[in-house]
Formats: sequence, C-alpha cells, structure tokens
Amino acid sequence: MKEISNREIPVFQNGQQVSHYFGKLVFGQDAMRQYLSEDVFKSVMAAIDHGQTLDRKIADYVAEGMKNWAISHGVTHYTHWFQPLTGSTAEKHDGFFEPIGGGRSIERFSGNQLVQQEPDASSFPNGGVRSTFEARGYTAWDPSSPAFIWNKTLCIPTIFISYTGESLDYKTPLLRSLHALDKAATAVCQEYFDKNVTKVIGTLGWEQEYFLIDASLYALRHDIQQSGRTLFGHAPAKGQQLEDHYWGSIPERVQAFMMDFEHEAHLLGIPVRTRHNEVAPAQFECAPVFEEINIAIDHNQLLMDVMQKVAARHNFRVLFHEKPYKGVNGSGKHNNWSMATNTGKNLLSPGKTPKTNLQFLTFFINTIKAVYEYADLLRASIASASNDHRLGANEAPPAIMSVFIGQQLTNVLNEIEKSITDKKLTPEEKTAIKLNIGKIPEILIDNTDRNRTSPFAFTGNKFEFRAVGSSANCSAAMTILNSIMAKQLQEFKKDVDERISKKGLDKDEAILQVLKKYIVESKKILFEGNGYSEEWKKEAAKRGLNNFTNTPDALEAYISKKSMELFLETGVMNETEIHARYDIYMETYVKKLQIEGRVIADMVNNQIIPAALNYQNRLIENVRGLKEIYGEKEWKKMAQTSLDLIKEISERVNFIRENAEKMNEARKEANQLDNPKKQAVAYRDQVLPFFDEIRYHVDKLEYIVDDALWPLPKYRELLQLR
Ligand code: ADP
Ligand code: MG
Repeated sequence: MKEISNREIPVFQNGQQVSHYFGKLVFGQDAMRQYLSEDVFKSVMAAIDHGQTLDRKIADYVAEGMKNWAISHGVTHYTHWFQPLTGSTAEKHDGFFEPIGGGRSIERFSGNQLVQQEPDASSFPNGGVRSTFEARGYTAWDPSSPAFIWNKTLCIPTIFISYTGESLDYKTPLLRSLHALDKAATAVCQEYFDKNVTKVIGTLGWEQEYFLIDASLYALRHDIQQSGRTLFGHAPAKGQQLEDHYWGSIPERVQAFMMDFEHEAHLLGIPVRTRHNEVAPAQFECAPVFEEINIAIDHNQLLMDVMQKVAARHNFRVLFHEKPYKGVNGSGKHNNWSMATNTGKNLLSPGKTPKTNLQFLTFFINTIKAVYEYADLLRASIASASNDHRLGANEAPPAIMSVFIGQQLTNVLNEIEKSITDKKLTPEEKTAIKLNIGKIPEILIDNTDRNRTSPFAFTGNKFEFRAVGSSANCSAAMTILNSIMAKQLQEFKKDVDERISKKGLDKDEAILQVLKKYIVESKKILFEGNGYSEEWKKEAAKRGLNNFTNTPDALEAYISKKSMELFLETGVMNETEIHARYDIYMETYVKKLQIEGRVIADMVNNQIIPAALNYQNRLIENVRGLKEIYGEKEWKKMAQTSLDLIKEISERVNFIRENAEKMNEARKEANQLDNPKKQAVAYRDQVLPFFDEIRYHVDKLEYIVDDALWPLPKYRELLQLR
C-alpha cells in the first residue's frame, strides 16, 4: 500500500500531432512504394484486392523490401504472427542474420521465409485434427493485413493450418467468411442496385473495455494472476452505486498510461480515438475508428498485447476478463458491424433516394432474418467460461439473442408488412410505396438504444453486437455473422429471382415481396424493451427464443445440422474443422474451470484457513486472558464476542476445508470422463457449484478477520486507483 501511495506518475509527453507518426511502424502502402519496385508493388496490391497469390519470384522481392525497411528501423528478427485457438497471439522469433562461413554473416530474408513457415507448434490446441507427434502445422502469409514492427521484431500476420489444410486458428475461417460475404453481397448489389459494385467488405469497429489494477496488488492475488478474476472478495462499501465513475474525469496516472499505449498503437497504425471511464470503478474503454474486419481484428489482438506491455511501464496490469469482480460491472467488447462497397457506400446506411433506401432495407432486413435463423449459432460464437459470468449479469446483455431496431424502423417495417401483398401492385400503389421508402431519413434520430440492454442493436448505420466478451478474439463472432449473412443473401437472391422469372414481377416488386415475407417470418427476434428484465425471459420463452445461460449448452449450436450445412455451403469450414472447434471450445471451458478449482483449493489451504486460524488463536488468547482477570461469574459475559467469533471461524473453516476436498474429488471424477462435452457438463454441474459455496464462507471470514492478518488485498483496494 505504501509503495502504491508513493508511486510517481510517469509523465507522457509526445508533443507531436498523431498524423505525423501514424502507421510509421507498418509496412503499408507508403513503405511499400519506397521499398518495392513499381511492378512488385502493383502485384502486392492486386493480391490484397483480389486475393491473388503471389509467385515466389515476387515474394522474394517483397521479402527483400520488407527486410530492408525493417532493418532501417533497427529490427534484427522477424516472426510469423498468428492467432491459434488459445485466444492469444503466437509468435516465434527468428533472426535475419545468416552465417556465410569464414566467421562472417549477412542479413537475409527470402520469399520462402515470408510466405510459409513450419513452426513446431505441436502444443497448440487442435481438437484432434493434428496428432501431436506429427506436429506439422504451418503458417502462411496473409498479405491482406500489413506487416508491422512490434518489440523490435518484424511481425508478419499469417494464417495457421494443419498439414492437411484444416484451419487451426481464428483467421482462416474469418477470411473465408469474408470472401463468402463479399461474393453474396456483391451479387445482390450488382443484380438489383448498382452495376459498379465489384467488391463488398465487412467493417468492424470494436469497443474494448478493461479494468486496471496496480501491479503490486496484482502480485498479491494468485486468483487474478492465474484465472484473470477474483475468486474471493467481499463487496466494498462503496462500489458503483453512485455511478460517479462513468465518463468521470480520468485519473492522472491512468491517463498517462492511455496516452502511452495510444502512442504505440498509432505507430502501429491502429486508429484508436476514443477513451473514457466505464461504469465500474477502475474500468475503462478504448475504441478505434472502424476498419475492414480482418484488419480490425488483427489490430484488436495486437492492441491487447500492446496495452499489457505498456501497462507494465506504468506499474499497472490490464484485466481483460469479462468479470474480474463479483457484483461489479463486467467488461464487453461491442462489435460494430456493417458492410461497405468498393464504391464507398455503407450498405447499412439509409440513402437519399427510394432506390438507395430499398438497398438499405434489403441489407437491413436480411441481417434481421439471418440473426433470427441463426440466433443459437450467434449465441454459441460468444460462449466462454468467462463470458458466462457476464451475460445476463449486472449491466450486461442477456444470453437471449434479440434484435433492437428503434421506433422509426419498426414503423417502416410495419408499413411494408401492411402495404405489400402477394398481388401485383398497381402503378399508384408502387408510387406510394416508393414515396414512403424514400422518406426514411438519412439520419435516424432515435437510432441509439438508450437502455443498452439489447445484445444486437441497430445504431443508425451499423449493427452493434454487444454480447461479445472483452477477452474474446472477435473473429469467432465475426466469422459467424459474416457467414450467416452470406448465406441469407444467397437465399434472398434465389427468392427474388424466382419471383421475377416465375411470377413475372419487376425487380423492385419482387424484392419488396421477399422482404415482406422475411419481416413476417423473423418478427419474433425483434425486441425493443428492457432486456435485463424477468418479463423478457418469460416473453422470450413464449416466443420460442432460446436462453442458453452457459457455455456447454450454447456450444451445441456449432454442430447442429443447420450449422453444418451453413458452413459447408459458404465454404467457411468443413466437418472436421467444425468438430475440432467444438471440442477445443469445450476443452477450453474445462481447462478454465480446472484452473479456477485448483486456485481455490490452493488459496483456501495456504492463505485463507491459516489466516483465519491465526486470528482465532488470538481470540483464544484473549479469552484466556479475560478468564484470568475476571472471576468465574463475569468472564463469560466479557468474552462473549470472542467466543462467538471463535465458533464462527471454526464452523466456516470446517465448511471450507470439507468442500474444497469434495470439489477436488468432483474434479478428479470429471477428469476421468472420456470426451470434452461430458467433461464440460461435469465441470459445470459437479464442480462449478462449489466455487460459490466456498466463496460465500471465505468472504464472511474476510469480513470478520482482523484486517492486518488478512492475506489478500480487498476489493476496496483493488478497485481504487491511486
Ligand atoms: P457509441 O456506440 O459509443 O455511441 P459510435 O456509434 O460513434 O459510438 O461508434 C462506435 C464504434 O462504431 C466506433 O468504433 C466506430 O468506428 C464504429 N463504426 C461507425 N461506423 C461503422 C461502420 N460503418 N461499420 C463498422 N463500425 C462502425
Ligand atoms: Mg457503441
């Protein structure tokens, strides 16, 4: 504590405008122009724009240019940088230098080294795709995300796949889903709205929430170190009741940290722009300007690493866990999602004319339909042991998937539903409908969901998927969202074309009929009320919407027949890949609970029980002393408090120890089970319930034991930033 109060606040001074150094450590277009010949530059740009592969000769030139650029920044090593299913990023550094005999060496980096590597990555999760002894997965360059320099190392974004071509990472299926979305959305645009559209990209703007904790306090909490959250801790007297932290003034020490990591981020071309306090004490948020999804996700993964490293310079630790503190607001990562055309149009933004508004309605209503059809899969995409603590809890979206669209657009949909029938429209009706559609204002006034309780909300020109967890790799959610949208747009095109060819309808009329059909079919998913309320749970059940409150249940949707068909049809994953992923997610759930269970047992045995008994001994001494001083008649009355406390401590300590033993037994049994799903269910039903029971008594002990003897920093200390 003393150490913390004496901390000096590092001053972060930079004094330059961001535009002067933004992207300086990125091998982007500027650097490429400087370090590559014009022909090579053009080939790389074509590879980026059209997903073409580069031949080896060109790759050699790119590698040479990249190396020279990196060396000009004092870089000595390079690494393929990838995103295995562990959830963090992986890297293995290699030096450029190469001995050439005679005790001399040169710096070399070849096209082969750039394009492909075989990391001995046998210990990354692979869900049985790749037997560990074979260990031949390889990483392959993703030219669509630029290389960058981080930690004096040239980092090359790559995918990670098995020797037989199955994805072992987040990026591979994401890229496939973006490709599927591009194809389906471009077809719809070209055929019905705008011939000039040749490419559609997905866009993502994430909002990263996180907690900060002082490094010294962090060092005293094994639970936070090993599981990312507090497994014990009594709620502080002053938590977030006053809501005085949200958007409050940022503490000086925190601001210095923010400015420092933002500076690093800007050098890396990560366009972070927004910073503020969040609802809970010691909770904050940062958000960039949106980008193409693949790049936005690389930037998010990279930023999480940057923040953690910069935090160390400021004696902070960053907690990305969804629920570090019980009873305190959790952290999410809102995913703002939309689609944009090569002609510069945001497809979820209303336009100025009936035609552009019909295009807007097409993409808007198809998104709703996609979420309706695949709500369970979308729920699965955000499932994790840590997000289970948040979904449905304080200030967090519910585990029930629903879509918020606001009053204005609800009216628009109702209007379409009323006015479109299966009969051909008269010219007058057509004009009237066109007029109506033309009236959708360019700026939607009540587009923000003020109560913020919807997991999936339309916010004016994008959908905001709010149920994504703060520690998650957004790829899981974005891959599903892109895939279901791609599939939905394929269906849409089929439906419209059929009406044109069979019923002889004109384009607009066919589109309107199909949209009306979708509105009617997917109405159940729309919800404008308070998503946190009990009534909504009941109402949702009545509507037949699922409420999966835990990961093992939620993950089932990955392997349903419907999902399987979706993945195969869109080419996003094959059967082996889906099953592998399902197994890995189950295993990860088990491992997280396993670690927490072990930490709980360790901490109660090594820290909590000894502290409680220590205090109890003092009380016993106190009772003995009182007995000596006072006579037989009086001492009992005088020692009443101590006697009560001695008893309470014994009872609680016994309970804790017994249940920690029982929990260990339950864990052993669960570990014996022969498949990941069974283990996950056993951990959920047989192990997890002990956590709260044990915690209840530990927290009661924290409340009565002498503060000076309690071995763990308390919530009031952890949440207070000095
Ligand atoms: P807030 O949700 O906090 O009110 P905004 O709505 O302005 O803030 O934006 C939140 C995030 O949405 C930002 O990261 C922003 O870049 C992103 N965003 C804005 N437009 C789009 C879009 N077309 N596609 C994806 N993300 C977007
Ligand atoms: Mg937002």
